[in-house]
Amino acid sequence: MIEYLDPLFYIVGKAVVIVIALVLIFSFMGALVILYSFKTGRFFYARIMLIALSLLESVIKAILWLGRADDALVDDFSILLRNYINHRKFHEVSNGDRYIFMPQCLRSVDCPAKLGPEGIACVNCGRCQMGQAKEYAESLGYKFFIVPGSSFIKRIIKKYRPKAIVGVGCQMEIKEGLAMCHSKDIPAIGVMLTKAGCVATTLDWDQFYEAISE
Ligand code: SF4
Repeated sequence: MIEYLDPLFYIVGKAVVIVIALVLIFSFMGALVILYSFKTGRFFYARIMLIALSLLESVIKAILWLGRADDALVDDFSILLRNYINHRKFHEVSNGDRYIFMPQCLRSVDCPAKLGPEGIACVNCGRCQMGQAKEYAESLGYKFFIVPGSSFIKRIIKKYRPKAIVGVGCQMEIKEGLAMCHSKDIPAIGVMLTKAGCVATTLDWDQFYEAISE
């Protein structure tokens, strides 16, 4: 019996080494593709890349970290990939069936808006850019919500069943939101805040208008 164990351990050991080598090679290639895509704005095999990214996320992050690159690029990249993949389906939905969810932290700290059942009711007081954005989005036909808390979006989705969504938020919120919309088969576009936090956050408004106007 014992004489069969040696070759068995040898085969298992060899298989483990091959798997580790393959993971490292694919992760290294993934890291290079991410850096290249950020530089050129071009995506290759987006769906396959997204699956590979979710499987190899930690290893790719470690490789980028070792190469002194920002490992947050991996999350940014997965958001860009999802936006890219969702783009066509999102634009097949008419504006009237598209919903926008904005984070309340984008408001002015002196915001006079009151909280209601449909979120924070902006009165377009001019203290921040939210009022203008709401007016423009609604003129295009969008439904516009300022989100007071994390369960709000799920409640609104359940109540109105939007066919497409634009979400603004920090990196983690967008990543989780896009994954949630994917699980509900709702094409969504995420726009990341340029400065995250609890209050006085900032947004590249041109990027936001571009996302909803296209
Ligand atoms: S524009 Fe709207 S969201 Fe901004 S501070 Fe005024 S009421 Fe609040």
